[in-house]
Amino acid sequence: MGYLPLSTKHGVAGNRDFLIIGGGLAGACLALEFRRRGKSVWLIDLPGEHSASRVAAGLYNPVTGKLAGLTWKAAAIFPFLEQFYAVAEQTLEQKFLFPLPIYRPFRTNQEFDSWNSRRSEPSISPFVQNAFSSATYPEDVKDDLGGLLLKYGGYVDTRALLNGVSDWLSLDGSFLAMDFNPSRLSIGGHGVQYEGRSASTAIFCQGIGALENPWTSWLPLRPLKGQVLKIDTRLSDERIYNRGVFLVRDKKDGFWKVGATHEHHAQPGVTVEGREELEGKLRTLLQRPFETREQSWGIRPTVPDRRPLVGVHPENSRVWILNGLGTKGVSLAPWMASHLVDHLLTGTVLPEDVNISRFYSLYFKSQKTV
Ligand SMILES: Cc1cc2nc3c(=O)[nH]c(=O)nc-3n(C[C@H](O)[C@H](O)[C@H](O)COP(=O)(O)OP(=O)(O)OC[C@H]3O[C@@H](n4cnc5c(N)ncnc54)[C@H](O)[C@@H]3O)c2cc1C
Repeated sequence: MGYLPLSTKHGVAGNRDFLIIGGGLAGACLALEFRRRGKSVWLIDLPGEHSASRVAAGLYNPVTGKLAGLTWKAAAIFPFLEQFYAVAEQTLEQKFLFPLPIYRPFRTNQEFDSWNSRRSEPSISPFVQNAFSSATYPEDVKDDLGGLLLKYGGYVDTRALLNGVSDWLSLDGSFLAMDFNPSRLSIGGHGVQYEGRSASTAIFCQGIGALENPWTSWLPLRPLKGQVLKIDTRLSDERIYNRGVFLVRDKKDGFWKVGATHEHHAQPGVTVEGREELEGKLRTLLQRPFETREQSWGIRPTVPDRRPLVGVHPENSRVWILNGLGTKGVSLAPWMASHLVDHLLTGTVLPEDVNISRFYSLYFKSQKTV
């Protein structure tokens, strides 16, 4: 799985195999995967303070939602993501992957009964470390009814990962810290050109920024604002806690991240309501006192059918898209990047449920109204 040495790969200055626009989780994982497969890239990114990938707590959690269901394709995606980020850590010579068990206190006795009876099912058992019927970490959290301890969870320090990728690509000039302007992209029979740099193909990974780009503004992306807190508290950091909110300790500063809100049609910025919502949920989970230290926000790129958006532009085979990672960029980005790279390099078929072809009718409708 070795990566090519940076200094020898690129013969012609100004020319790379792929031009990636957007260096959040989608674009960064794509760049890592192309390089792992021996391909060269340009990566254009101008991250804002509120870029989703940088605000994200970085959690990956195989069991989510009020009903505590296994997430989509968990059996394939979760082992894969840990392997992907572990290889990326070696490549970038940085630590950003932190596998940790996730503890989910039960709300009702029925939840224990349900998990206890299902834990031997082949689809579930790999993810369950234990199901407790009585309080197990009562000094830290309110878990009178016991709780579920999950495997294959953890978090990625997304800022460390993204900075690592941009620094690594900067070594040979492949990272371009600039604001991408779609009107300066030219596309011809031989490839794409942007400000003197050329490549065979452009791949847009702009998150919610896709709505500002005429090549991708037809995508059914729904902005979903999220707010997170950083709090100071004292509890065991041997696990992540999750019920209503998640609580994960940032190893760098020792504070705990708490999140996240889910706000449709929301104004930019942090709000008192956001903080109160998170603190309220935290009080129902946490046994210990806490003090809020920081509050931040970002916008997730979600899709109505809750599946990523991957594939080729309806009318231009040199323009590709990786987007729609919604609330789960950390777990979905490696998996989707790997599928897209496989498809582009070897022609394997893209899974139908993520292929943007399912929304082509929106594109053609948008063209009629132009
Ligand atoms: C509060 C919050 C908490 C979250 N917590 C988690 C979590 O714990 N776990 C999880 O899996 N997911 C979490 N998410 C969701 C996760 O952040 C997203 O799924 C993921 O970051 C989407 O990645 P992306 O690369 O598609 O988009 P983005 O992160 O938005 O990245 C797009 C990049 O493209 C750049 N860009 C766009 N347009 C241009 C342009 N014209 N020129 C140059 N650069 C451009 C942007 O600046 C940005 O850097 C959270 C999101 C929020 C908001």
